[in-house]
Order: sequence, then C-alpha cells, then structure tokens
Amino acid sequence: MSAEDICARVQESFPYINISTVYRTLELLVDLHLVRETRLGPTRRFFEVEEEVPHHHLVCDACGGVTHIHDLDLGTLDGTLRQDPGFALREVTVFGVCEACQAPKEGAEPCTSPTDS
Ligand SMILES: [Zn+2]
Ligand SMILES: [Zn+2]
Repeated sequence: MSAEDICARVQESFPYINISTVYRTLELLVDLHLVRETRLGPTRRFFEVEEEVPHHHLVCDACGGVTHIHDLDLGTLDGTLRQDPGFALREVTVFGVCEACQAPKEGAEPCTSPTDS
C-alpha cells in the first residue's frame, strides 16, 4: 500500500497524524527491515511488510494498480543476469498495463483482433 493509504487508515484512529509523520515512521521501519520500500516510478513509493519470499511488482500505467509476482515466475532471468553481466538481481519492477485496463471498454471496438496475438 502507499504511504497515503496508510495515512488515511491511521487517521481513522489518530486524526492528528499527518503524512510526514507516516513517512518518518515508514522510513524507520524500512531501516529496521520490517517494511520494504519499492519505488514505483519517480514519485510513487510503495510500502509493504517485509516477507521471506522474494517477489516483484507489476505496475499498471493506466490505473496505478500493483500486482505481485513470485520470484520463481521470473524463470531464468536471475540466472541469466548473474552470468552476464554478473548482476545479482534483488527486485524487479515492471511497468505496463494490467489485464483489467487492457480489456476493451464497454461498447468499444477492440484495437487488435484476438487471432493475431
Ligand atoms: Zn490497470
Ligand atoms: Zn510486494
């Protein structure tokens, strides 16, 4: 969830908490490795509870939705990068368009025919 989401949630119980307090607290939790921060583009920061299982993020350009994919779903990418250029992959953020946003809007003609995919 985003810091704004967390702020809105916290303010339900503690109305005097503001967004900078939330950011300060989140940064502390990131330092303690209790929360993981992922940067989704230049302005968006996404926070989530640190998990044992490495996973990666798919970010939709259209709706801003974030989908998680398991490390195993990357297939051989990690191994390939380790070989050449010898890069140890930690996390991948992929930008694109989610399934819901790709779906043709009600009444609109699809841009591509289903047969040529
Ligand atoms: Zn979307
Ligand atoms: Zn995640």
